[in-house]
Amino acid sequence: MIKELNSAYRIKCDTAGCKNYATYKIILKPKISLSTGVYVCTKCAKDMYEDLGKLFVPKSPVNMIKKNLLGGTK
Ligand SMILES: [Zn+2]
Repeated sequence: MIKELNSAYRIKCDTAGCKNYATYKIILKPKISLSTGVYVCTKCAKDMYEDLGKLFVPKSPVNMIKKNLLGGTK
């Protein structure tokens, strides 16, 4: 799941070399731990999805990204 972070958060993006603050937290195993996740900024999230899109070729990658980033919670 992807959680959008409150703007009050000041957590650095986890991507090596990226100095932006994280906008999203990607929680890989929400049933196990909500506190374990990867913090990414908007730019890195987009880059990541572009790369993932190439791997998995979803039907409509752009819409899936928007859905996940802009309001999807599960
Ligand atoms: Zn980043």
